[in-house]
Amino acid sequence: MGLSNGMGKIISLCKRRGFIFQSSEEYGGGPSTYDYGPLGVELKNNIKELWWKEMVRLRDNIVGLDSAILMHPRVWEASGHVQSFSDELVECKRCHKRFRADHIGARCPECKGELTKPKRFNLMFKTTVGATEETGREIYLRPETAQGIYVDFKKVYETSRLKVPFGIAQIGKAFRNEITPGDFIFRTREFEQMEMQFFVRSREAPKWFDFWKKERMRWYNNLGINTKHVRFREHQKDELAHYAKRAIDIEYKFFGEWKEIEGIHNRGDWDLSRHSKYSGKDLSYYDDETHKSFIPYIVETSGGVDRSLLAFLVDAYTEVRGGRTTTTKSAKDTEIVLKLHKNLAPIKVAVLPLVKKQPLITMAQDIYKELRQRWSCQYDEVGSIGRRYRRQDETGAPFCVTIDFNSLEDKQVTSRDRDTMKQERVPIVELIDYLKEKIE
Ligand code: ATP
Repeated sequence: MGLSNGMGKIISLCKRRGFIFQSSEEYGGGPSTYDYGPLGVELKNNIKELWWKEMVRLRDNIVGLDSAILMHPRVWEASGHVQSFSDELVECKRCHKRFRADHIGARCPECKGELTKPKRFNLMFKTTVGATEETGREIYLRPETAQGIYVDFKKVYETSRLKVPFGIAQIGKAFRNEITPGDFIFRTREFEQMEMQFFVRSREAPKWFDFWKKERMRWYNNLGINTKHVRFREHQKDELAHYAKRAIDIEYKFFGEWKEIEGIHNRGDWDLSRHSKYSGKDLSYYDDETHKSFIPYIVETSGGVDRSLLAFLVDAYTEVRGGRTTTTKSAKDTEIVLKLHKNLAPIKVAVLPLVKKQPLITMAQDIYKELRQRWSCQYDEVGSIGRRYRRQDETGAPFCVTIDFNSLEDKQVTSRDRDTMKQERVPIVELIDYLKEKIE
């Protein structure tokens, strides 16, 4: 997608409002890594919590796991990553830029120069365990969270007394030494994944694949993603990993370009068979009804926290030309509203005294202190009320609550809806119930 004009606006909003910053920017930037600021971390946490609730808490047959990032190096031999987790890389003989061979045609996309033959490039970060480089042992930072789940599979189902079909879910950091990182947080070298591995009987794998495909799409739609901006893309036979039975991507349309945000894969019995072989430990499942052991098939849902966050942001980003508030200086002005789903919004309610004067300040702060017991709230007294509304529209707060001089007399406040800008007077004693109905 390149750093299109559209992406430039998202990056600038993220920086301006404290969602996302370039990592170690003061030193010229990290190795394609990003930091989530005060609003970004709230949004990211909301995504992770909503996923966890949907995938783990509300299901009888899925449990969670938090496995280590640093694992035994043999894990990555068994998984095939040491040998083949590498992309074919080509270099332009003229401009010396490097590209992934599967991303481009026969010539350099930048200067149309001739390309080198594809070369292998390992995407795993290596580090050393032990006191010195010489005596230490080489290990890897995990490039996906899934392998921790496979290795712990038996311990998890035995201790949880789960029966096939069941799932294990995990959210955590993964690291890939991407050749061509870019497009802001779309492809970075350090990112977070939300993965769920579902263990099934081989004959039931196609049924569960269809089930999870629908469930995952429903999740995005329920969180307000425009249904026209997401689609499935089935992998062709020649795209599939050699062990994969079937794979489908959920794609989001980023500024006109369809890009993967999550993959649903039928991985067959590859993973557990390989770990049984490489570890020498039997990782089969014992069926106490048939008294037989077998290696289950795995249907996985593998999503990126950062990529879905970017899709949610892009989808919510709305420009209103001609302005909608009184502070808009001219008809040419553009106002930005971040129409995030209420469950995603990093701030649910902003509490604003109409002017920075007593006793409005105390009254507003008392209300703020009560509301923040329940929701993520912000108190803001700086600048004109119009400016503050605009600021909150950009942070995506679904509601603002304003305390004015009448509030002192009638004990009511004004609630303002981010999307409709509709204002309503609400008695303070009813405020929590009123907001509960709107944002929970
Ligand atoms: P791509 O083809 O874009 O490199 P992939 O098919 O290798 O992605 P998977 O290995 O299936 O990706 O990982 C599952 C999910 O993890 C992806 O759908 C994406 O959301 C996320 N992801 C993978 N690589 C990155 C990355 N470098 N930066 C951010 N998110 C990533």
